[in-house]
Amino acid sequence: MNKAIDLYLTVLRNKKTKRCSFQKNANLISEILAQQTLLHIQTKQVHIETPIDATEGIERCDDVMLVPILRSGITMLPAFLKFFPGASIGVMGLQRDEKTAQAHWYYHKLPTITSNQQIIIIDPMIATGGTGIETIGFLKKEGIPEDKMLFVSIISAPEGINAITEKYPHVTIISAGKDKELNKKKFIVPGLGDFGDRYFGTEE
Ligand code: URA
Repeated sequence: MNKAIDLYLTVLRNKKTKRCSFQKNANLISEILAQQTLLHIQTKQVHIETPIDATEGIERCDDVMLVPILRSGITMLPAFLKFFPGASIGVMGLQRDEKTAQAHWYYHKLPTITSNQQIIIIDPMIATGGTGIETIGFLKKEGIPEDKMLFVSIISAPEGINAITEKYPHVTIISAGKDKELNKKKFIVPGLGDFGDRYFGTEE
C-alpha cells in the first residue's frame, strides 16, 4: 500500500516485537489508515477568506461516527479522533469464541444517528468477517445505508473480506495488509498472532 505501512506492518508481524514497539507501530498504521479514510469522506467546496484574500477550500459534509468493535477496535480510536475530531462514537461489544470462531454480543451503545451520518467501523483484524457482519447488520437495522459505512482494518484475510462483501457489497473496506488465508484455528496467515493480546499484554 505504501512504504511506511510495509515498514510498520513488518514490525507488527515479527513475533520478537515487544509490546511497546507493537503499540507504537500499530498506532502509526492507524494514523495512516485514518488519513487514507479521509479520501472516502464526502466534502463540499467552501468559500473562505484568509487574512490576505478570498479563496476556495473544502469542508466535510457528513457527520462522522466512529464505531470501534471491542476490544481491539478501541486501539485505533485515538488515531481516528485525530483526523475526525468531534466524531461521535458508537461502541460494539462483540467477542469471538476462540473454539467456534463465532461472534457473540455482550454490549452495544450508539449515539443518536443524524440524517447525514457517515460511519467508520474500526477493527484491526478481519479474519472470518463474523464480527464485522454482525456490526454492519446492526447498523443497517438502525437505518444506516451500506454505502455510508466504511470498514477499516490493519490486516484482513480473503475469507473475511469475501464474506462481508458477499453479504454487504456496498460497504467499502480499507485494509493495510491483505493476507493469504485463515488457518484451522481461524487465525490470519501469516498475520501477526492475536492483536488484542499483543497490544494489551494479555498473552499467557
Ligand atoms: N484476531 C486476531 O487478533 N488475530 C487473528 O489472526 C484473527 C483474529
